[in-house]
Amino acid sequence: MIEVKVLWNPWRYEYVKSTTKPQSGKECLFCRLQGLSDEEALIVHRGRHFYVVLNAYPYNTGHLMIAPYNHVAEPTELREEELLELTLLINKSLIALRKALMAEGFNIGSNIGRAAGAGVPEHFHVHVVPRWVGDANFLAVISGVKTLPMGLREAYELIKKSWVESA
Ligand SMILES: [Zn+2]
Repeated sequence: MIEVKVLWNPWRYEYVKSTTKPQSGKECLFCRLQGLSDEEALIVHRGRHFYVVLNAYPYNTGHLMIAPYNHVAEPTELREEELLELTLLINKSLIALRKALMAEGFNIGSNIGRAAGAGVPEHFHVHVVPRWVGDANFLAVISGVKTLPMGLREAYELIKKSWVESA
């Protein structure tokens, strides 16, 4: 199944985007996504300085990304007020993913610079990836090897609902 195939290439999509187009302003994935409708872009939440979006090519079901509206490359370029919002949005992501998908653990992280493996090095973003004990079993289920596929759209609706409910 395609889901299994992309699982081990977590940020492949961003990588492909970044190598096929020069990245600046409107050409940048994270600048473009924020200009689309929530449903088109799979945006879960729009905050004051950041938005939260479901990765369309996820490492795991419910893989969220938190990005500033501003085209800045790293957190050293963010103000205190922005860093505070980022931390609150990470917490909010954990709460929503637990509620929506019964996530049991999380990987939270960011790749700063191409040397670190960043797919879109010029627009800072934080990944929040939900994990389950025995992920492999869960993924076998969601990838359709068993009988319960969960599509991106379905995951999006569940997470967005949980996000709003835990506001
Ligand atoms: Zn950008």
